[in-house]
Amino acid sequence: MTESKLREEICWFGKSIYDRGLTAGSSGNISARVDDGWLMTPTNSCLGRLDPATLSKVDEKGAPISGDKPTKEAFLHLSMYGQRPGAGAIVHLHSTHSVAVSVLVDIDHENPIPPLTAYYVMKIGRLALVPYYAPGDLALANAVREVAGRHHAVLLANHGPIVAGKDLETAVYATEELEETAKLYLLLRGQQTKLLTVEQVAELHRRFPA
Ligand SMILES: [Zn+2]
Repeated sequence: MTESKLREEICWFGKSIYDRGLTAGSSGNISARVDDGWLMTPTNSCLGRLDPATLSKVDEKGAPISGDKPTKEAFLHLSMYGQRPGAGAIVHLHSTHSVAVSVLVDIDHENPIPPLTAYYVMKIGRLALVPYYAPGDLALANAVREVAGRHHAVLLANHGPIVAGKDLETAVYATEELEETAKLYLLLRGQQTKLLTVEQVAELHRRFPA
């Protein structure tokens, strides 16, 4: 895909995400890999009103090349790309249901949302939860770096999800699957539930390798 097409696609997905209330105000950010670095959504930008011409472009170290100043959370994206050389795009949202799950006290940090559906297993697999750190704290980037080699989807406690994909569409759809599954998980709290078994999960990984 050409860079200009990718710029348009970032704006199209940003508007789609914003219009459906998957992130509010100026929250959330998107990045995608290009030949000479990364495109990122600018700091304080609303995903509903992105301009392809003013998206930030940064080099491998995160230094600005062109466009508006990048998102304050650029370091989170870069720490994840560092562990996932095959990732072409990353989406980070403050999506309500995923954030709600990240705030619960009694969840497993290694597996905060259990395998409720086949598509959750296929698009997310096993989610990791990292502890809370203030936005901009480099400890948050370090915590993401620690788990990102093993998990392409990470939930930041009291903050939101960050999800990598081979391309932008894959990363967006996986983030949406996570949000919908978080909603299901909350709907089912306190109910007796039948999760997918270890064998069923293994079969999905066999049939649909990531
Ligand atoms: Zn955030």
